[in-house]
Amino acid sequence: MRATVMFGAGNVRIEAVPDARLIEPTDALVVVTRAAICGSDLWPYKTMEHSETGRRMGHEAVGVVETVGADVRTLKVGDVVVMPFAYSDGTCIFCHEGLHTSCIHGGFFGAGDVNGAQAEAVRVPQADGTLVVLPAGKDDALMPSLLTLSDVMATGHHAAVAAKVGPGRTAAVVGDGAVGLCGVIAARRLGAEQIILLGRHPNRIALAREFGATDVVSERGDKAVERVRELTDGFGVHSVLECVGLEQSMLTALSIARPGGAVGRVGVPQDETMPASRPAFYNNVTVSGGPAPARAYIEELLPDVLEGRIEPGRVFDRVVRLDEVPDGYRAMNEREAIKVLIGF
Ligand SMILES: [Zn+2]
Repeated sequence: MRATVMFGAGNVRIEAVPDARLIEPTDALVVVTRAAICGSDLWPYKTMEHSETGRRMGHEAVGVVETVGADVRTLKVGDVVVMPFAYSDGTCIFCHEGLHTSCIHGGFFGAGDVNGAQAEAVRVPQADGTLVVLPAGKDDALMPSLLTLSDVMATGHHAAVAAKVGPGRTAAVVGDGAVGLCGVIAARRLGAEQIILLGRHPNRIALAREFGATDVVSERGDKAVERVRELTDGFGVHSVLECVGLEQSMLTALSIARPGGAVGRVGVPQDETMPASRPAFYNNVTVSGGPAPARAYIEELLPDVLEGRIEPGRVFDRVVRLDEVPDGYRAMNEREAIKVLIGF
């Protein structure tokens, strides 16, 4: 079969690889019908050292169950499914607490010996716990939005939950990438009355406004902090969704949280230390977040997608075939595309 392999920074290729197959009796084999390129795939795309064997990419997909292992109980051949970016058993102590990304039998697609999903097929470990059957045909018009439940919409929602967004509260979203845009959807869905997007790309700002952003701040650094304060009676916002992961974005996030506010961070931190720890301390700012337990959120978000109340699939502004994936990486890296959908 064909799969996406990254061999180093800027070097993504579609390669012929051994067919995906069942290994454990708890596995399912899924034929991928749609996958996506993630903003987090761009970090290795910018920095990865050359590797002879390469790294199998991709952790967002929907598809059709092709085969199931002997111990799989809840899935059958032909089911249309969405996979969260992490696999999980659904039964351990952390899964019961809704923190499936910390599953003691879990892990991440495209890491270790579990291959990525930007491929014709993917082996899904812990299939009963991981996969969610979708009440939709594989070519349903809602598929782009259903695909976002794999990661980007769940991650935007997680940022909003970690930032304690709620009715009547003010929120700011740092970052106008696909996760930030889904963060706007999530903040509105959870009832924020003011949603300030910090971003500078006109097409992304336009989409954010359609998703519910009430204000836009395109300045950077201290100027951005000043603008957010102006928009919030000088205090800052209750909830900040940090959707980038750089030192500067985290500094901005902590600086625009009002005293007693919360920062929900979902951008994978690119630094070991967190800036502004002293102001965060004196302002009693909660800092929370991490990899979204997408599996826990799919059931909550799915009805809103199916009934059209949210349309996160609109973050996809380019569709490529599998053999065009290398150009998809280039386009996202150069900010030519917000997010790339891979069709088959
Ligand atoms: Zn578990």
